[in-house]
Amino acid sequence: MLNPASDAFIAHLRTLLPPQAFRDATDAVLSEPRGRWRGQGHPIAPATTTEVATLVAACAAARVGIVPFGGGTGLVGGQIMPADESNGPLPVILQLDRLRTIRSLHPTENVLIAEAGVTLRAVQDAAEQANRLFPLSLASEGTATIGGVLATNAGGVHVLRHGNARAQCLGIEAVTADGQVWHGLTRLRKDNAGYDLRDLIIGSEGTLAIITAAALALAPRPAQTGSALLAVPSPQAALDLLALARDIAGDAVTAFELIHKQGLAFLSETGLAVPPPLDPLPDWMVLIDLALPPGPTPETLLEQIAEQALARDLATDGTIAQSQSQRAAFWHIRETIPEANRRIGAVSSHDISLPLSEIPAFIATAPAALARIDTFRINCFGHLGDGNLHYNVFPAPGRTRADHDHQRSAVKTAIHDLVHAAGGSVAAEHGLGRLKVTDLETYADPVKLALMRKVKQALDPQGILNPGAVLRAP
Ligand SMILES: Cc1cc2nc3c(=O)[nH]c(=O)nc-3n(C[C@H](O)[C@H](O)[C@H](O)COP(=O)(O)OP(=O)(O)OC[C@H]3O[C@@H](n4cnc5c(N)ncnc54)[C@H](O)[C@@H]3O)c2cc1C
Repeated sequence: MLNPASDAFIAHLRTLLPPQAFRDATDAVLSEPRGRWRGQGHPIAPATTTEVATLVAACAAARVGIVPFGGGTGLVGGQIMPADESNGPLPVILQLDRLRTIRSLHPTENVLIAEAGVTLRAVQDAAEQANRLFPLSLASEGTATIGGVLATNAGGVHVLRHGNARAQCLGIEAVTADGQVWHGLTRLRKDNAGYDLRDLIIGSEGTLAIITAAALALAPRPAQTGSALLAVPSPQAALDLLALARDIAGDAVTAFELIHKQGLAFLSETGLAVPPPLDPLPDWMVLIDLALPPGPTPETLLEQIAEQALARDLATDGTIAQSQSQRAAFWHIRETIPEANRRIGAVSSHDISLPLSEIPAFIATAPAALARIDTFRINCFGHLGDGNLHYNVFPAPGRTRADHDHQRSAVKTAIHDLVHAAGGSVAAEHGLGRLKVTDLETYADPVKLALMRKVKQALDPQGILNPGAVLRAP
């Protein structure tokens, strides 16, 4: 059993850490982006890896739980521990934003070493200044931190070309559950010396270790970039268009996003309206991004893709960005849809992935499964190129999500059952947090679940790291 972070324990911590590390529990650390939960805990913000290790060692000695907190943009409640028995007593909230140094940059090696609290955007900017690219890109990148994106193995819009956060990390420095520092900041691309602990800790959502710094792999900066927004007659046509685009442009296709007109309707409804990018507005659109070395322009290749798509009825209309500002306007639509969704307030949001060829059938059948429960609006959009959809279910006009509170679990089960039956994942890029602990228990291979519990027991035998997240607290 864990102990609460009592006043006496916090007084003890004050003898170990400088006064600047102690913070008030404000809304910023107690609320989560979709307003679903209110957290609890004593926020403590160490400024160095040594201070993190001191804090963790003290928590281990006193058996006090620790909830790691980066930018607080996680969507599954991993960084927020509500006060309820399944999570255990009052924890320490370990805020990592004061670990914000970019320790070194190695342009010839294409490596950057950043501390856990550096924001994703700050890393992108530092890479750009060295004429390099850090390709991980999410709508939350101004706030999300390197520790958070690695802890959740975040995805985003460039997974199709560059892989998820795991693929862009060479090494990590981490504090273990007993307060030791693992100095794993290797810059090596090849290192098969034993079990890959880096990959075990990446994606573990703060339940196996605290990430304090990471060696990140950079990519060459593309000389040219371009975008097109094409109207597609169906999700199946969008998939065929993806194949066509890759036949023509190969790995230059860096993003391929599916957008439904419901997303644009939500932009208008929530005061975020944009000029309609196509007229008439089609049901389905895809946003394609190309990144190229010097040579043929992206516009030439995008025209080729669009012409062939129109000839084969894979697209019915479209527009190719003629300037970087028009390109930014296309991406603004895509990147603002999550904010419109937040303002509308989903009954249930599903971050799912499916084998690519299963996607059209899923999109065709899911509305009927939902209609058996009630009338809803659906905003289905996302990273079609890597099989990851955000399938979000909203109240019909005139109703609120509170009207559907009693149906949330039925909605989630209907969607997740379909995804599981089609060989998909019910936690594609956001992780499990506390929101999907039961889903893991329901859908995971039982051997995998048993192995996960053994790993947790081995690395965090007292269960102090992020209690109640990913695996149910014993
Ligand atoms: C508008 C919006 C758009 C988004 N788009 C995407 C998207 O396209 N793709 C995607 O994958 N996600 C997306 N997300 C989700 C979120 O931004 C990511 O999960 C991000 O990686 C979280 O980073 P963070 O620093 O905010 O972490 P937090 O929210 O603070 O924490 C997330 C999890 O990581 C743990 N954690 C944080 N820091 C550390 C650390 N240093 N060591 C150990 N554990 C730690 C926390 O305990 C928690 O379990 C989006 C979120 C929003 C609000």
